[in-house]
Amino acid sequence: MKLELNIQPLESWIKTGKEPLVIAGPCSAETEDQLVATAHLLAQTCRVSALRAGIWKPRTRPGEFEGIGSIGLEWLKRAKAETGLPTAVEVATAKHVEEALKAGVDILWVGARSTANPFTVQEIADALKGVDVPVMVKNPVNPDLSLWIGALERINNAGITKLAAIHRGFSSYEKSAFRNEPMWDIAIHLKTLAPHLPMINDPSHITGNRSLIGYVSQKALDLDMQGLMIESHIDPSVAWTDAAQQVTPAALVEIIDHLTLRKPEVRDTEVKDKLAELRSQIDKIDDLVIQKVAERMQISEKIGQYKKDNGITILQVNRWDEILNKRTTYAKALKLSAEFTEKLLELLHSESIRKQTEVMNKDQAGQAADKLTHA
Ligand code: PEP
Ligand code: MN
Repeated sequence: MKLELNIQPLESWIKTGKEPLVIAGPCSAETEDQLVATAHLLAQTCRVSALRAGIWKPRTRPGEFEGIGSIGLEWLKRAKAETGLPTAVEVATAKHVEEALKAGVDILWVGARSTANPFTVQEIADALKGVDVPVMVKNPVNPDLSLWIGALERINNAGITKLAAIHRGFSSYEKSAFRNEPMWDIAIHLKTLAPHLPMINDPSHITGNRSLIGYVSQKALDLDMQGLMIESHIDPSVAWTDAAQQVTPAALVEIIDHLTLRKPEVRDTEVKDKLAELRSQIDKIDDLVIQKVAERMQISEKIGQYKKDNGITILQVNRWDEILNKRTTYAKALKLSAEFTEKLLELLHSESIRKQTEVMNKDQAGQAADKLTHA
C-alpha cells in the first residue's frame, strides 16, 4: 500500500515544547462553568498544549446527551480568551466545520464513527477546501487501516497539510479490559507507511477506565507516538459522558509525572555501537528465518505434488494437531509463549496450504485459462 501525504510538522501548528505533548479537556462541554473552570485548572498545570471538548457528540444510542451544540463554541471562545489555550472540537458535518471555523476553533478532529464513513469524511473535506486549519483524524471504529488512510487522504487532498492521526482503539465484540482494543499493530503499520504523519494516542477512549490511562500512555510513548489526548473533567464523578475514563486536572498531572520519556534516536556512540551490533545479529537471524521458511515452502510444494499424484487431501487434521502440540511444547521449553508460537505456526500452515492448493489445482487452472482464451 502506498501512502503519500503532504504534511507539515506538528510544531508548525501546536506548541510541542512540553513533554509529552498533551491535549486535554472534558469529553463533552456540559455547562459554561464546567468548561471554563476545567480549562483554568488545565492551564495552571502548564502541561497542556490545547483544550479539547466535544460539543456535538456522536452517541451510540438515541436519547443520550448528544452534546450542548453551537452554544458550546461561545464557551470555548471564553475558555481560550481567559487561559490562552488553543481549542479543539470534533466535527462531523459541513455545518460543524463552518460553525467551528467561524468561532475561531484552532484544531478540528474527525471522530471514529465519522472516519468509518467516506461520505461523511468527504463532506468534511469539501467544507475544509481553501482553509488552513489543523485536522486530526481518529482511527475508524472498526479495525480497517484503509478507512483510516482514506480519511487522511481525503482531508489532505482538500488542502489540509496540518494533519495528524489519533489512535483511539477499535471496537470489538469480545469483552476485554479495554473499551476499545488498541490493536497497536494497526497504528504501527500506519506509522511505517507515513513516518512523517504525527500520531497522537487517545488512552481515554482506548481504556474507558481512568486506572489504565497511565499504562496505555506509556506504551504509546514507547512506540514513539508524538502526543496524548486525555479526557479531563473538573469532577469526573458527575460527568455527563464517559465518566469512568475522565480524570481531574490534578490526576492528569500525576499520570504525566509517572511517564518515562525515551528518545527515538540514539546520540551516545557507545550505546549506538552496542545497538548496531545487536541489530546486525537480528538481521542475520532474520535472513536465516526467511531462508528456512522458503525451504519449508519448497518442501510443502513437493508434498502437494505427492498428495496430488496419490489422490490425498491437502488438509489432514491429525497431522496439523501433531505439529501444533509438538512445536508448542518445544517452543515453551525455549521460553516462547504458546500464543506467539500458535500464531506463527498458523501463519506457516496457511501459507503451506495455499502453496499445496496451487500445486494441486495447477492443471485445472491452466485448463480453465485455456478455455477462456479459446472461447
Ligand atoms: C471523543 O473524543 O469525545 C469521541 C467521541 O471519541 P471517538 O470518536 O474516539 O469515539
Ligand atoms: Mn469521550
